[in-house]
Amino acid sequence: MKPRALFARSEGSAARGYRRYRGAKKPLPWYGWLLLSALLSALSAFFWFGSRRFAPLGALLRRGALAVSAFLSRLTGLIPIPLSEWLLAGLIFGVLIWLTVTLLRRRWAAFGRGFCFLVFLGSLILFLFVSLFLVQHSAPPLAQRLGLTVEQHTADHLAEYVAYTVEQTNALADKVPRSAAGDCDFGPFKSLSRLVQAEYDRLASENAVFAVPRPSSGKRSLLGGRIMSRIDLAGYYFPYTGEQIISTDVVDSHIPFDVAHEGAHARGIGPEDECNFAAWLVLKDSGDVRLRYSAWLNAYIYANNALFAVDRERASALYSSLPPEARHDLTVLNESLRRFEGKLNDLGSAVNDAYIKATGQPEGVRSYGKVVDLLLAWHDREAAR
Ligand SMILES: [Zn+2]
Repeated sequence: MKPRALFARSEGSAARGYRRYRGAKKPLPWYGWLLLSALLSALSAFFWFGSRRFAPLGALLRRGALAVSAFLSRLTGLIPIPLSEWLLAGLIFGVLIWLTVTLLRRRWAAFGRGFCFLVFLGSLILFLFVSLFLVQHSAPPLAQRLGLTVEQHTADHLAEYVAYTVEQTNALADKVPRSAAGDCDFGPFKSLSRLVQAEYDRLASENAVFAVPRPSSGKRSLLGGRIMSRIDLAGYYFPYTGEQIISTDVVDSHIPFDVAHEGAHARGIGPEDECNFAAWLVLKDSGDVRLRYSAWLNAYIYANNALFAVDRERASALYSSLPPEARHDLTVLNESLRRFEGKLNDLGSAVNDAYIKATGQPEGVRSYGKVVDLLLAWHDREAAR
């Protein structure tokens, strides 16, 4: 009889459940997980809006987040492999296996309870994301903290600046180590990443804005490098472990800049344009020519892309004034990016765009390019001195 079979099955699982929890406390009922989820979601909303509306609360939450993040980062920094990848892979596989098993065995009660637990897990992930990282977006603009005045600029002004970045790039392009084929050959990732870390220490001693709890240095992706490239991601900061992960496909000329960009996130800078600016700022005065070159090549790319949008002819002429080594590096970069073009790349870019917009940067992925405003403001201030 059908009902009997159903009864027998549920009795069986109850017995297993009893054995598993014998002597321990009763497991949390399904509504318990949902109540906890509601509580965590409410806390997330309070941290997010509270940090933006009430400056003292924002400052307190940011300071707390920086201290905890730096601690996590140094703890996970003891392990050379990116833990974030194992956590992400474990989470995805765990959920898939659980879904398959419960659905195949038609354990609807277990499915319902598990689903409630997943809702809880989701709200815990959100809460940690908000409290460890998103609150940093409530900080006053980096330009303001550095005393920079960001102004509207004319095409002429921009072209002048591009010419200046070309000059800087010219002075360095033939001095960086290169392979026989002429590609940038910057050596092992780890030593580059440690160098960037040391440059941040130097910057922190010169500028109070960067004097924050010290995270560990950036790691190179092991499992997900190719996946990252396919979804148009050169690097990411993982607040749960405080890790800064760089894709394996990043070309050498860009490794220092991308490590420094993720390093800025780890130092409590949220907006993408500000991280790009911090990356340029920390690398441009390095004693290492590879780091300086990465800074100026990227400044050139962002500035000339901005010029290209308003004056194609002048942008092309300035490109031609680059030395052959730098033009070769740009070809290598474009080829590397073109390799991964496709639907998945567009999708990844769209997700990143939506994510950046959700963090309060209305320009989305275009906000990386807003670094040009900061570069010009810095340049004008230095020129006026
Ligand atoms: Zn970023």
